[in-house]
Parts: sequence; structure tokens; C-alpha cells
Amino acid sequence: MKDNLIVVCGAGGFIGGHLVADLLRQGFSRIRAVDIKPLERWYQRLDGAENIGSLDLKELPACRQAVKGSNWVYNLAADMGGMGFIENNRALCMLSVLINTHLLQAAREAAMQRFSYASSACVYNHDKQTDPAVTGLKEEDAYPAMPEDGYGWEKLFSERMCRHFSEDFGLTTRVVRYHNVYGPLGTYDGGREKAPAAICRKVITAKLSGNHEIEIWGSGQQTRSFMYIDDCLKGTQEIMRSETITFPINLGSAEKVSINRLVDIVEEIAGIKLKRKYNLNAPKGVNGRNSENTLIHKVLGWEPSIPLKSGMERTYAWIYDQMKSVDSMAAAVNRW
Ligand code: NAD
Repeated sequence: MKDNLIVVCGAGGFIGGHLVADLLRQGFSRIRAVDIKPLERWYQRLDGAENIGSLDLKELPACRQAVKGSNWVYNLAADMGGMGFIENNRALCMLSVLINTHLLQAAREAAMQRFSYASSACVYNHDKQTDPAVTGLKEEDAYPAMPEDGYGWEKLFSERMCRHFSEDFGLTTRVVRYHNVYGPLGTYDGGREKAPAAICRKVITAKLSGNHEIEIWGSGQQTRSFMYIDDCLKGTQEIMRSETITFPINLGSAEKVSINRLVDIVEEIAGIKLKRKYNLNAPKGVNGRNSENTLIHKVLGWEPSIPLKSGMERTYAWIYDQMKSVDSMAAAVNRW
């Protein structure tokens, strides 16, 4: 089993990079890591894996190359980001449909045993997420369909395609609906970052600059849950290995917080209090979203449980170190 070739698509990104690292840690000896980004831009490039950069999985021949000789593939490749990216790049997000479509085709041709697709909580019906006091989204709440425009429609369509490749062609597929994943070694600036990393960056910027203000997107009362990367890795692999999870399933934390509370937590970690400015015109997504975990608990006897505060401490520390080193580099350049 441990010498089966496992392919991780999107391995230059946040979750894919951590997944490759985790598989190697467990002793899987043959990992192929694939991404459209050139190798030098990967968050983690691990020597124990066969790393293939600059491979565009929107193309069918590239997908054939990626899956050649392998039995299992995790598709974590997508053109995506936080709300600031997906609300302003709907067409780009929808083009990720080519990645999953061509990977499914290549997997079917290669008669692969397992195919895991990274879906999202953005598939859930908008009307079930209007209240910040939302009780948690159950798997059946994706229908009748009214997902996030662009990104969510692509995810829902690709979920269906996995289902029908399974029903019609016998390809064993797993569909994982991730709810906000966060942790070190991910995007924290540049426009694709998500709320936990963006808030860490803003608090650190305030701390380092002495300008004790923070801009918050929306009213701050919108609610979400955030899953630490270690829980994400465990859940992703257990769902893949399961013989019974043949349906889309939530993988998320059920610890719901408001964005204001998330800012409180980061302020506590940083030991600082900031003046809050609310930008009501910024992208903010739905009013309330949380993961309902009855199903995953039933099938795996487990659910994500790493407390937000402890995950954010680790995330903050990593982003702080990154920003400090960029800051000291800039200072050194200025001294010259
Ligand atoms: P990420 O952006 O860090 O990683 C995605 C990777 O896919 C990137 O490295 C990117 O270069 C690569 N990619 C994009 N287009 C490609 C192409 N044409 N060919 C090959 N590679 C390509 O994102 P992530 O946070 O690691 O997310 C991984 C998956 O999980 C995505 O499908 C995402 O939609 C899904 N997801 C993530 C979250 C989250 O909170 N991080 C939540 C829900 C769903």
C-alpha cells in the first residue's frame, strides 16, 4: 500500500503542499506532486516527492501525464482564493471545471482506483446562509441549487460530474466539502488570502508600523467556522480511504465565530488592541456559515476539533516570521 503511486494535484498550493508533506511523514514512498506554478513558487517543495511544476491541468494531455502509472489522485488544484478573489474573478473560478473534467477523464482512461475532489462550503444554497445565527449546513442543504456565483457553481457541477463518473463509469470518487481551512504555509497577501490569514497580516502590520487601526470587510458580524490544516489532512485522507463515503461530505470545524471574534482572538495573540474600521462595500460573502458535522461523526466517529485559538496561534506565528523577515530584508536594502 505504501509504495502505491499517489498523485497530489495543486501540490504547490496550501492544502496540497501540506498533504504531500503528511503522506511522506507517514512513509508513503511514491508521491507525485503537480502544479501549474513553477517549482520555485510552491509553498512546500519536498525532496521525497516527484515534483512536477508548470503543468497546466486544464489540458487533457497534462492530466494524462499527471496520473500515469498511479492508482489514487487527490484533486486540490483550482484557481481560487478568498472572497476578495472569487467575487471579482467568477469566470476564472469557473474555468477550474476544465481541471476536474480532464482529470476525471484521464483517471477513467487509466482505470484508477480512487479520485478525491476538493469541493467547498460555497456549494450551499445562498438562502440558507442569510442569518449570522445559522445553525450549521447539512449536506442536503446544497439543493435546491443556489450556490456562490461562479466559484460555487463550478464546485457543484464538478461534484455532480464525480458522481456520474462513478455511477456510469465505475470510477470510485470522493467529494469533500471543505469549510475555510487555515494554517501556516499558505497565502497571506496578494489578493487571494482568506480571512484568518488576512486578519493576521493586518494585525501584524498594525503592530510593526505602530498605526493601531484595522479595516474589517463587512460589519464584522458575519459568522464562519475555520478548520486548522491538521484536521483537514486527517479528514481528507480518512474520507479517501473509507469504503462507505460515496456521497459529498462536510469537512469543517463546527466552532462558529463572528469575524469580530476572530479579530479579538488575533488581537489577544498579538497582545494589542486596534481601532476597527468597517468597510461595508468590501466583498464579505454570506452572512452566516457553519459546518454541520452529524454525518462525518456518524461515518468516521470523528470530526475536526482543533480549537480556533490554538490553530490561530500557530498561523499568526508563521505569518509574523514571514513578515518580519521581509521587513528586515527591506530595512537591509534601504541601509545600502
Ligand atoms: P491554493 O490556491 O493554495 O492551491 C491550489 C493550487 O492549485 C495552487 O497552487 C494553484 O497554482 C494550483 N492550480 C491552479 N490552477 C491549476 C492548473 N490549471 N493546473 C495545475 N494546478 C493548478 O488553494 P488551497 O487552499 O490549497 O485549496 C485547495 C483546494 O481546496 C481547491 O480546490 C479549493 O477550491 C478547495 N477549498 C479550499 C478551501 C480553503 O479554505 N483553503 C475551502 C474550500 C475549498
